[in-house]
Amino acid sequence: MKIKLIQSDITTLRVDAIVNAANSSLLGGSGVDGAIHRKGGPAILEACQEIRATQGKCNVGEAVITTAGDLPAQYVIHTVGPVWNQGGKEKEELLKNCYKNSMHLAIENKVKTIAFPCISTGIYKFPKELAATIAIETIKNYKNQTIIEEVIFVCFTHEDYAIYDRIVNNEN
Ligand code: ADP
Repeated sequence: MKIKLIQSDITTLRVDAIVNAANSSLLGGSGVDGAIHRKGGPAILEACQEIRATQGKCNVGEAVITTAGDLPAQYVIHTVGPVWNQGGKEKEELLKNCYKNSMHLAIENKVKTIAFPCISTGIYKFPKELAATIAIETIKNYKNQTIIEEVIFVCFTHEDYAIYDRIVNNEN
């Protein structure tokens, strides 16, 4: 499994699955969530509404999978990151769970390429360095599985890219 770092808009990527930093309602929001629903069209919202009707809300750290609608990706994996200003130390574990549960859904759905945004580091205000360290460390634990061939960390800003680059290159 390769780990790649890019600066891009995640909605433009032709990968098997992109991950959405959703909220518990699954009904859309701002930031990357807004962009995914806007560009992916109504099919994504319809699929999310169906999940809401059968399973209820999506808890923090959990993940669900839907179509990617009109996006070039095949699937969207919606995961709900922790809000930095709520709760205690368990926030780090919850962010880790976002990456783990997204990877598990990807593996179950035979996803070969998956792209992650910097979950929780926008409106949810998780410190960027800590979030990037958790993201990279968690994903590295999947090095030896054989379904997913490539994980792409998608940084929207140059600042995020520089943080990930530093962490990836210090630790390799
Ligand atoms: P959260 O509510 O989990 O903090 P946000 O969407 O506010 O989610 O921010 C998460 C990250 O997604 C931030 O690093 C933000 O810069 C980034 N982001 C926003 N739009 C896009 C996009 N179109 N593609 C990739 N990343 C994006």
